[in-house]
Amino acid sequence: MTSPETLAFMELAIHQARLALDALEVPVGCVIVEDGKVIATGRNRTTETRNATRHAEMEAIDVLLGQWQKNGLSMAEVAEKFLNCSLYVTCEPCIMCASALSILGIKEVFYGCSNDKFGGCGSILSLHSSNTTPVNKKEFQMYWRYNGIRSCPSLSNIL
Ligand SMILES: [Zn+2]
Repeated sequence: MTSPETLAFMELAIHQARLALDALEVPVGCVIVEDGKVIATGRNRTTETRNATRHAEMEAIDVLLGQWQKNGLSMAEVAEKFLNCSLYVTCEPCIMCASALSILGIKEVFYGCSNDKFGGCGSILSLHSSNTTPVNKKEFQMYWRYNGIRSCPSLSNIL
């Protein structure tokens, strides 16, 4: 069911989570992929920055927004780019991040484990679904890979 490509990108997200753990952060990491290529990585930096919004997804999104702004992309071009991006994140995006991803119009999200406290992709709210999104937001595909990722040996020290 889980493709080798999905697992490979999730392994890269897990690597980011390990970096977060090494820095005494909550171990969540992610990568953003466009056309089969990683174009941004992120990990939790809430402790380091003393900023509760610095989740892995926000870090990766900010990398892209900074690059695309530097490259002179228009708002329409940025919106077009996000439509082709996939996010691989070790833990289900929280309500804040799921909402941001929906507004940005990301194509799809793969996550490793559910987020029973703050999950915005099905666990608490379903912000990826068009049923709960206002008109300015877009529905995105969401894939839950809990079993596959949980059984991944490289995660055994984290989960
Ligand atoms: Zn979040």
